[in-house]
Amino acid sequence: MVKFLNVVLISTYDLGHQPYSIALASALVGRTGAKVRCNDLAVDELASEDISNADLVALHLPMHTATRLAVEVLPRIRDLNRSATIVCYGNYAVMNEPFLISAGVNVVLGGEAETALADLCGAQMAIPQSKAVNSLYLQRQRYVLPDRTGLAELARYSHLIPPNGVPKLAGYTESTRGCKHFCKHCPVVPVYGGRFFAVDRDLVLQDVEQQIEMGAEHITFGDPDFFNGPKHGIRVIETLSKRHPDITYDVTIKVEHLLKHRELLPILGETGCLFVTTAAESFDDEILKILDKGHTRADFSEVVEICRKLDLNLAPTFVAFTPWTTLKTYLDFLKEIVHFDLISRVPVVQYSLRLLVPRGSLMLDQDAFRGFVGSYRPDALSYAWNYRDPSVGAFEAEVGHAVETFVEAGLPAADAFGELWRFVHKKNRLQAPTLPSNASFPLPGMSESWYCCSEPTKAQLSRL
Ligand code: SF4
Repeated sequence: MVKFLNVVLISTYDLGHQPYSIALASALVGRTGAKVRCNDLAVDELASEDISNADLVALHLPMHTATRLAVEVLPRIRDLNRSATIVCYGNYAVMNEPFLISAGVNVVLGGEAETALADLCGAQMAIPQSKAVNSLYLQRQRYVLPDRTGLAELARYSHLIPPNGVPKLAGYTESTRGCKHFCKHCPVVPVYGGRFFAVDRDLVLQDVEQQIEMGAEHITFGDPDFFNGPKHGIRVIETLSKRHPDITYDVTIKVEHLLKHRELLPILGETGCLFVTTAAESFDDEILKILDKGHTRADFSEVVEICRKLDLNLAPTFVAFTPWTTLKTYLDFLKEIVHFDLISRVPVVQYSLRLLVPRGSLMLDQDAFRGFVGSYRPDALSYAWNYRDPSVGAFEAEVGHAVETFVEAGLPAADAFGELWRFVHKKNRLQAPTLPSNASFPLPGMSESWYCCSEPTKAQLSRL
């Protein structure tokens, strides 16, 4: 007699979004006849009873924060069920495979892994128990419409906060996965190796539409870079805008692509794009070169100008702390934020982000970085590295503590920046000049702006 599996799909964290990959896996695994339970630990308790009865428990590890949280919860899952097959899948599963296997994980899947996960479930009980399996899938998988019915309602996830301050329900989808670029510090690169895959346009739109039916008024396209396939992206947003002219959205596009495809930018504004997240990373050309970002400070400046003329909001992200950071360069960084009129556009968490070097990171092969790298720290799931100026470590800790306090208190970006501005000037023994008065002008953003490379906060850890 065929025995269908009991499967629990767990997301520990997905940047405040209803987890797309869990919904996609739920649809695919559900087609095998398995009984699927989705368990999103960002909004729910650990589903202990379902885990106790599960044949297979799969955790999605798309980013560092999610993986650090998974490390906390894995022993509890194993305690609840000694015989279940535990699968970890996603970019950070592959990068942390030795650690995960040593922590009792049976199967590690990477790349386009949801179909492989479903195939594993479809094979019913022929799941390896004694031998760890690690497989990377870099071919276009059979995308289907994500099944979101087992996840919490959108009201429990990150909202859009428009300039009028009245929150709107937001959905999330992906129109492409992977990336064709090779930025040295990026965790997508060691896994996807320059490949990206387009999700069928009709499926992307159907997924958006099912979230509109759930109440979404805004959609985040979570593609690593929406202009990896610019024609595909433009077709998606033009169709979306035609069918649902009142729905707004946001996308992530690298500086290089914003310049290269500048003729497409007016279409973003015309079709309801409220803001474009872009990985500026640094204003220092030397650091941009080491990270192989494909842009310079001058390029970023040009993008700011183009977007300003088009009234298109930019939300830049940064790697604020690198081995080359000093108290002075950090102050220069804040001055550039003021110079480019970005005070209200940069989520507070960005001021505390440090270069993350997980296993497999291309940074490890960079000559400029080699002299700073230390040993691998299993507890932090990353390599230690040193500052050129050792005193910066204590400064980084102070900034990190301040940022976490600002985020937990819900301090608006401009107010948090003002606090940091004064603090960093004081550290440099300088008088802080008055900030421009228009800096507090609110811009659209999401209610949760935590970042994929961040360490989990105390609140995130204690919730588990
Ligand atoms: S940082 Fe962005 S553009 Fe660069 S490789 Fe990663 S996803 Fe691609």
